[in-house]
Amino acid sequence: MPLVDDCVFCRILKGEIPCTKIYEDDMVLAFLDIAPFNPGHTVIIPKEHQHSSTALDVEYLKAIIAVAPKIGAALMRATGAEGFNIFQNNGRVAGQTVPHVHFHVVPRFADDGVIIYSAGKKYNNTDEMTAVADKVKAALKI
Ligand code: AMP
Ligand code: ZN
Repeated sequence: MPLVDDCVFCRILKGEIPCTKIYEDDMVLAFLDIAPFNPGHTVIIPKEHQHSSTALDVEYLKAIIAVAPKIGAALMRATGAEGFNIFQNNGRVAGQTVPHVHFHVVPRFADDGVIIYSAGKKYNNTDEMTAVADKVKAALKI
């Protein structure tokens, strides 16, 4: 989908809003998140407007995934981080606030106070687990 007027990330791509660029090529732009979980927190966006990664052309997904670990490694070298998270939120319920697909790369430090956590729920038994897997497999469109 072409860039749109009412999307903050499209406006960054059009040069209407500034960003602190980390990397750019034909397919993607990576820049510092304005409200970082930790200094260096980077967002990588495709140069096309799509709300969800499910709608994004696979070539853009490949380009983003190729770049993301390289940025993570650069964040480690540059900031002294001991690790990093890569994540991507789809939908408001998942924490998405900007409706243009973006991947986060967050450098991580010991005791940095960043919480990306679940205690981990439980399946009642293996039959329930298998039933869930069967449903997902039936719904999978690849
Ligand atoms: P999400 O919650 O996954 O939709 O993440 C959106 C991210 O975009 C948030 O972490 C925001 O801090 C970040 N963000 C929003 N506007 C800007 C901007 N103009 N420049 C850089 N980052 C931004
Ligand atoms: Zn957009």
